[in-house]
Amino acid sequence: MTAEATLPSRALDVATWERAANRLVETTRDLIRIPSVNPPLAEAPDQELVAARHIADLLRDFGLVPELLEAVPGRGSVHARLRGDGTGGEPLLLLSHLDVVPAPSERWSHDPFAGELADGYIYGRGAVDMKGMVAMELGVVRLLTDAARAAGRDPASDPIPGLRRDVLFTCTADEEAGAAAGAKWIAEHRPDWLAAAGALNECGGVATTVAGRRLYPIQVAEKGYAAYRIAVRGTWGHGSMPRDDNAVVLAAEVIRRLAVPGPTRITPVMERFLEQAAAALPGEAATILRGLATDAPEHAEAALAATCDPMYARVLRALIRDTISPDVVHAGVKYNVIPGDAEVQVDCRVLPGTTEAEMRAVIEQKLGPDLAAACEVDLLVFGAPVESPSDGPLYDVLAGTIVDHDPVGIPLPAMVPFGTDAKFTRPLGVPTYGFFPLMLDPEERFLERFHGVDERVSVEALRWGLPVLYDVVRRFCG
Ligand SMILES: [Zn+2]
Repeated sequence: MTAEATLPSRALDVATWERAANRLVETTRDLIRIPSVNPPLAEAPDQELVAARHIADLLRDFGLVPELLEAVPGRGSVHARLRGDGTGGEPLLLLSHLDVVPAPSERWSHDPFAGELADGYIYGRGAVDMKGMVAMELGVVRLLTDAARAAGRDPASDPIPGLRRDVLFTCTADEEAGAAAGAKWIAEHRPDWLAAAGALNECGGVATTVAGRRLYPIQVAEKGYAAYRIAVRGTWGHGSMPRDDNAVVLAAEVIRRLAVPGPTRITPVMERFLEQAAAALPGEAATILRGLATDAPEHAEAALAATCDPMYARVLRALIRDTISPDVVHAGVKYNVIPGDAEVQVDCRVLPGTTEAEMRAVIEQKLGPDLAAACEVDLLVFGAPVESPSDGPLYDVLAGTIVDHDPVGIPLPAMVPFGTDAKFTRPLGVPTYGFFPLMLDPEERFLERFHGVDERVSVEALRWGLPVLYDVVRRFCG
């Protein structure tokens, strides 16, 4: 018997998948039409609650009894539990967030909050980050509750046929701005919404075509973040008599020094990623990746710059070092007044193994004694890096199911340079994997859609992913 024949999704008929795929598209579009922007819109500050209520209504229609909470008024998160028969161990968590980043519409070719369908794509803010995944998780929940009803069971209280573990569905507010009104609050006050043997979350599992090979990086790790405010002290004066200690001039030098990329460091998760990707890729691409992983990352970086798609080069460079991006500058009151104060805010992203204290020390060392004496460095926010095992029962199900659905696909464990709600599940001991299975067109610039203009997801990619996610859930919980 082939692996494919054992796929649980094969037990459902074509018409069922057709209906489920159509619902997935419509649910994605409906969610995009709710502008659950974070920070909330002044004119409609409760849209995360509206989105949470919309999702709760769907869960209720499926026969479940959802819970909805507002950590802060207007900031809704929603949760439901599907029961297994209790013989399979801890639950599987389907984790997602319902907020999106703002989308100034000027440069979009489609209204970012209309959920328009064009050329086989659903356009809109949240298409990939991450309302498409919310809808895919809801699609799987619906198929499971349908199975319960077909067996004469009540999905709200009876075990879903074939499930040995519970499945938790948790969709949070405020992921895009630190999660104090979302996953962070839930981890502190309602950890039962998150407690699981493993969690599936956003970002990984997306087909990425490199040098003709289709890779599926499964997110097992993410960098940490440390944002700092640097107060720069100069001397106030008259613009007619320039000064070296003009705070703007000093701030410019602060920025220049901090923006120089630091040394590389290959963490164990990146070493595995680079080795496995190099083994899967032909010729030059493999040489560059091996170069990054081994002795001379500088040479490999030059090769990256020369040959690699800038989108991939940028992410690879960010994954092999602690990074510093100066992103905010405040200074000056009038053109003829030399400012005595300036402020620079920097976004640092740290690799597993780098502490906040070490990051701060790097900043002070880059400033040098002369500039450090004129600067005060204050931490704004810190989130530690997180990492989950690159093997073990859930990872193996993810990788195996990808290959069963795409026999030439190459799953591999990967880190992402940004943060997700995994920051709050991992400290609870929940192995958390970014896994949003999408079979993308090789030309699709997926990484640029995140928080970008014309965010979109292809209907075909979603249709492919739904049975993949279904099989993962059935296999891990069955
Ligand atoms: Zn996201």
